[in-house]
Amino acid sequence: MNNETIELFHELATDQNTTPENFNGRKYHIWTIGCQMNVADSNHVAAELEKIGYGPTEKLDEADIVVLNTCVVRQTAEDKAIGKLGSLKPWKRKKADRTLALMGCMVGVKPSQQLLDAYPDVDVFMPPSEATPLVNYLRQSEIDAEMAEIERQQLAQRYQVQDEAQPIGTVQSIKHLALSGEAPVAAHVPIVYGCSHACTFCIIPFRRGVERSRPVQEIVNEIRGLVAQGVREVTLLGQIVDRYGYDWRGEMGNSRTVSAYQGASLRLGSREQGARDKGQGEGEDSALPTPHSAFDLADLLRAVHEIEGLWRIRFLTSHPNYMTDRILETVRDLPKVCEHIEVPIQAGDDEVLEQMRRGYTNAEYRALVQRIRTIIPKVAIHTDIIVGFCGETMEQFQQTVDVLSDLKLDKVHLARYSPRPGTVSERRMVDDVPEVEKVRRHQAIEALQEAVSTEINQQFLGQTVEVLVEDQHKGKWRGRNRQNKLVFIESDLPLRGRLVEAQITWTGPWSMQGRFVRDVSPLPDRVEAPKTTITLNLSSVAV
Ligand code: SF4
Repeated sequence: MNNETIELFHELATDQNTTPENFNGRKYHIWTIGCQMNVADSNHVAAELEKIGYGPTEKLDEADIVVLNTCVVRQTAEDKAIGKLGSLKPWKRKKADRTLALMGCMVGVKPSQQLLDAYPDVDVFMPPSEATPLVNYLRQSEIDAEMAEIERQQLAQRYQVQDEAQPIGTVQSIKHLALSGEAPVAAHVPIVYGCSHACTFCIIPFRRGVERSRPVQEIVNEIRGLVAQGVREVTLLGQIVDRYGYDWRGEMGNSRTVSAYQGASLRLGSREQGARDKGQGEGEDSALPTPHSAFDLADLLRAVHEIEGLWRIRFLTSHPNYMTDRILETVRDLPKVCEHIEVPIQAGDDEVLEQMRRGYTNAEYRALVQRIRTIIPKVAIHTDIIVGFCGETMEQFQQTVDVLSDLKLDKVHLARYSPRPGTVSERRMVDDVPEVEKVRRHQAIEALQEAVSTEINQQFLGQTVEVLVEDQHKGKWRGRNRQNKLVFIESDLPLRGRLVEAQITWTGPWSMQGRFVRDVSPLPDRVEAPKTTITLNLSSVAV
């Protein structure tokens, strides 16, 4: 082997690989130093990148990926590689989605801890002649980005329904959605309008008014209408969904702030108000309790569960103070209600929670999670976190980190605190955590939760899970399992709107992939799987 040190950037535009069909508009740049073996390795990496749609560029600024293929045979070659790595810092930090890969002799068979620590900007370390780590990393990044976008869109849609829900009618038509595509399989149904809790950071009580529960019969009728239009899953919505019915009994949470702000006396709970609410329902059913009885979310779940043609029920968002055993036992006992609870903690420190006026402590939240897990086997618990709330110190933030790493919840909806005009925190507190520190805390929780979600989801590998298939995305069927985890299924069968069983073949932090096993839809025309046997090799994966 000729060990003559050569230095070049990769300029092979291997047109035979990057066809117009698979070029994804993203570009790579490979810098190579060392022997001909390194040059050949770089050519192999180029070919692998082109197979997955990347094209070459000599211009660093145009590149989405830079690969440094290194040599340590001579000190000068090593020094050049180290210098190149240093010079790439501004390139790497300019755009968040750029990928920097270090390859070759500097990495060796396995990168040392010293190397990993020395170059935190490097995303992928590749041994000589090994393109796989980079290809896997890019595929995973693409999946993660897509999942994050799907989650973002769905969350935004949910918040829009939840935040803007007003009593504007008693039925929903989803026909207009069918014009631009197909009618949705899952739908949201508001059951409680407004909120009377008045957390200090939150604008909702001022914008949406005090809490008002919708009459039971009205909700049931609306869901029947949705089912007639093809909906199979409903998510019952409320700012504090498990306070459904409390307003009928005059129990208003910590609503004095809301009352004072609105300058209105709280009349809810009076016999007149109850009678008015009850009167809004269509086709009143005399068997249903009056608004003044102890009718709650558990009773509503039972009423909705009776609806024929409806297959799944979820509800959100819960508040730790109102999640009763009665509700949890109902989730456990009703087959249509999914094992999925969304219960925000917002912060881990008691003083911060007090400042937020949340009404519970760290210890109480931990006890609640224990209670939920005891009553509902295989439950998925999601939470919300705000980092950088007014006055939050590093020690207080650490309490949030600790509670999340101890409890290992399935998902965290994460936000950096920003004052909303008119809220108590905006008017009376100081937004004193610097933005850069909020970003750092946000990233720390993101990294922690990615590891936790990866670990939780790995437990599904090889298992057969129930998935309600909602639509198709990039040629794969997309749905959710009972724990609300995204599952992609590769199949040519017409699975949209079907309840199926899928065997999980791959898991990541934000989604899973599986193969179709069978259709379990409660319908006469079940879809049949092709009669082939597929053997899964799971031996190399820790389950
Ligand atoms: S954050 Fe607090 S005030 Fe805002 S909607 Fe939720 S419970 Fe109500």
